[in-house]
Amino acid sequence: MSLLARAFTRPNIVAIAVGVLVAGTPLVAFNFWLSGVIDRQGQESTVAAARRAVALADQHIAQAVHVIDDMAARGIDSCAPDSVTAMQRAVFVTPPIKELAVVGPAGHALCSNRGSEGWPRRVLSSEPLIGMASYSLDIIVTSDGQHMVQLRRAGDTDRNALTALIPASLFLPQVTRQGNPPGIYLRIETGEGTAVGEIGERPDDQHGDLFVANRRSDRFGFNVKVMTPRSRVIAGNAGLKWIGLLITVLIVAALVGFAVLMPRRLPHNPVADMERALAAGEFVPYYQPIVDIRSGQLRGAEVLVRWRKADGTLVLPGSFIPLAETSGLIRAMTFDLMRRVCVEAGQVVGSRPALKVSFNFAGMLFSDETIVKDVRDTFATSPIKLSQVVLEVTERDPIENFTLTRQVIAALQELGVRIAIDDVGTGHSGLSYMLKLGVDIIKIDKMFVDAIGTDRNSTTIVETLVDLAHNMRMDVVAEGVENFEQVMHLRELGIRSAQGYVFAPPLPGSAFLQLVEAMDTLGNAAGEQPARAAAVTTVAA
Ligand code: C2E
Ligand code: CA
Ligand code: CA
Repeated sequence: MSLLARAFTRPNIVAIAVGVLVAGTPLVAFNFWLSGVIDRQGQESTVAAARRAVALADQHIAQAVHVIDDMAARGIDSCAPDSVTAMQRAVFVTPPIKELAVVGPAGHALCSNRGSEGWPRRVLSSEPLIGMASYSLDIIVTSDGQHMVQLRRAGDTDRNALTALIPASLFLPQVTRQGNPPGIYLRIETGEGTAVGEIGERPDDQHGDLFVANRRSDRFGFNVKVMTPRSRVIAGNAGLKWIGLLITVLIVAALVGFAVLMPRRLPHNPVADMERALAAGEFVPYYQPIVDIRSGQLRGAEVLVRWRKADGTLVLPGSFIPLAETSGLIRAMTFDLMRRVCVEAGQVVGSRPALKVSFNFAGMLFSDETIVKDVRDTFATSPIKLSQVVLEVTERDPIENFTLTRQVIAALQELGVRIAIDDVGTGHSGLSYMLKLGVDIIKIDKMFVDAIGTDRNSTTIVETLVDLAHNMRMDVVAEGVENFEQVMHLRELGIRSAQGYVFAPPLPGSAFLQLVEAMDTLGNAAGEQPARAAAVTTVAA
């Protein structure tokens, strides 16, 4: 499978989709939240700017009214030097007021705190000041072009009046602390709608996303309009956007970290784990000697697989063979084990043709003809001859295709391989049915071995099995022999071969090979063949 194909397996696609959702959701949520923040902030700042402008206008007018009322109360309505001095002092302590003047009944200026500066003036508009019946509010332009708000307290028609001038620019507040950013528009008008002043260029309120606030002064009737384009607020929140991006990057980094650590935290897919272990050579052969209980000679060994994990733990086959069988991995595992035996024990076993090596062969493997070629090829270059190979098929496994199984067994026997029925007496198939497969060896299960001598029925069954085997020229091997008493009983029953803890447990390769060589040196090896002497020489060399 290519790397790409491996990456896009179903679980991976699901994991990627979940990852995108997990990483994308906070980003979408953040953008939603940010949009809310911008709406709220835009509206609030626009309303605040309008409120500030109204408050400022009210404050300037109230100050001017207060000063003029105070002067009037003090009877100052002439150009007497004391009056001019009083006007100068009042202007000095009241910053927004630029000028106080005394005007005659006809409206012309008689004197002011700054002489005739800024005269002549043009009156743009004039209206009564809302909320103050005795005052009028004019918008004027001085001779030097400055727009001014003029507050006039009308005296009796035949008497002089007092006026105060405040630059119109002082009615325009700073929208933000940093000044008035481009894009923001503010306009302040008198109660009757005459412009006092404007900030910025009026945006097109037909298009564009705008925050708009209109506010009217309850006190003096000023109207303020503020407009803020949405883009302006977004630009002001660029920092937040970066925070959003940062949060997303952090979430993605956390996900990647999680994905890297996950394989260590979550239980593995056991089949994938076995595949990896197989590739890493973690399935190793152990060898349980099979002994001739009449001569004491070594007849060979049954190969039993062990999973030797990287940390040194040894796992018994009962906990992984069933999954290897259902997942189909058993075939690769069995042949891998055979190759390992060829490499590890090839020379020692191959040079002693009387020694047999038995492999456990899952029943399902016999219903595939290609297995015959694979077995032949596996041993083709090995010193272990096919005549030394025994394949055990357990009576526990149901036989799905009897005819095919029998053909495969026959083809294997053609090669010289011998077939054993394992766990005889424990399966469901029935011995007579199994015997029709034409096998060479029957292995009597530990259950019967344990019962011999104590349970009459079991003893009779074993006796019958031995008779049957001899009549059919089959060998008998007793399994799970644990004590000498059992050995005696088995011998009395005419059984020749046995394996079990009484002789040796399954041994790692090195120990088994040492045992073979040690027994050979003692002259005990299964060397009935003429090749024996040569074999010993080979091994000794
Ligand atoms: P099995 O083929 O019946 O193997 C004999 C089992 O009995 C082995 O267990 C062996 O260690 C154990 N045994 C041997 N002597 C004694 C004894 O005196 N007393 C007791 N109590 N037990 C004894 P093991 O190695 O755990 O294997 C269990 C089963 O796993 C095997 O039963 C066999 O069916 C299966 N197995 C082992 N290796 C392979 C393999 O390479 N391929 C397949 N398909 N199955 C295997
Ligand atoms: Ca077996
Ligand atoms: Ca067995």
